[in-house]
Amino acid sequence: MEVRDKLAILADAAKYDASCASSGAKQTRAGSKLGTTEGMGICHSYTPDGRCVSLLKILLTNFCIYDCQYCVNRVSSDTPRARFTVDEVVSLTIEFYKRNYIEGLFLSSGIIQNSDYTMEQLIAVAKTLRTQQAFGGYIHLKTIPNASPLLLTEAGRWADRLSVNIELPTAGDLLQLAPEKKREQITDAMQGIAETITETKSEEQAGLHPPRFAPAGQSTQMIVGATDSPDADILQTATELYDKHQLRRVYYSAYSPIPHADARLPGKSPPLVREHRLYQADWLMRYYGFDTQELIVSPDRNLSLELDPKLAWALANRQQFPIDVNRAPRELLLRVPGFGVRNVEKMLSVRRHHQLRTEDLRKLRVAWNRARAFVITADHNPALADLDKLDLARRTQPRQRQLLLFEAAESARSGEV
Ligand code: SF4
Repeated sequence: MEVRDKLAILADAAKYDASCASSGAKQTRAGSKLGTTEGMGICHSYTPDGRCVSLLKILLTNFCIYDCQYCVNRVSSDTPRARFTVDEVVSLTIEFYKRNYIEGLFLSSGIIQNSDYTMEQLIAVAKTLRTQQAFGGYIHLKTIPNASPLLLTEAGRWADRLSVNIELPTAGDLLQLAPEKKREQITDAMQGIAETITETKSEEQAGLHPPRFAPAGQSTQMIVGATDSPDADILQTATELYDKHQLRRVYYSAYSPIPHADARLPGKSPPLVREHRLYQADWLMRYYGFDTQELIVSPDRNLSLELDPKLAWALANRQQFPIDVNRAPRELLLRVPGFGVRNVEKMLSVRRHHQLRTEDLRKLRVAWNRARAFVITADHNPALADLDKLDLARRTQPRQRQLLLFEAAESARSGEV
């Protein structure tokens, strides 16, 4: 099979992994050969400092001996199969890099022969790129959870980021749909990576020069909507992963229906807005001091699809408002709908010099439409009278408008709510 044909299959197979922000858009003109960004595996991801990098995102192979029911590459699927050699992936990466198509590689794989063999193949790609091609670009390797810990350590030497997919929200979900995978094996692999990252950092701080180990940390992906697990369980799992295994990022990926799927799987994807709400809630937990369970305010234990999670929380907890923007501490200001982290930092700085008025908040570009009913300012704020009104949710909704390209990119990167 030609490398180009393999690329079409293995880039398409990799698109189900959500660890990058986008995988291209569909071409719009029938028969066109240029201009499409779909099918050749180039996706975009954001570095911790906010840069957008393009990555070659492919599988080494979509042959797999496992039978995870939610996966198009499972052994019982009749999808077209292909397998790259190590040298083919190395060569593609270097060729794409030289042509300025990509800045890095995101490499995953189905499991062939056994976990250790598969992990060795992934490592061989990264090691060859680093040692023989002097490739200094970004490399993200998916790791195989029950591969030997020594292999995971070796993978971290060559990769910038490692990830182990948690796959599904609960151990029960995994047992149901992917019985060959064990939650403990996955979390043990994460724990091993977290400990090696910590040891490496401590040695660096002590002035030693340990071998590099996954300097961009580790992440994971959780599939949403393949089972009935509600958002409360999804966020609880995410919290445990952040707290216990120091993950940099949990990616939420809406389940995509696959051909000839098991009858236990839903026939359609969950609404994309559910994924978006989970990212917003995730951001609120990590940067705004919210606890997982307090963000779930509806009896079905799911986030609202209509309201962003912070506004939904504020509406359900009106007794905690209004908040005086000139007196409230940082942690309370962060709870006001429409106030982002950067807004709050600026408010704390400005109010050292003078009292904040509504005009000041507008100048600081807070989302005033959402915030105005919840805050006391130094001047008269007539919107405060709306706080107890039954239709406050409607009054605080932003007007529908087309999102600008750069706003969308910023929101995807920062998750600011
Ligand atoms: S191990 Fe990975 S590639 Fe194989 S069936 Fe499961 S999810 Fe798919």
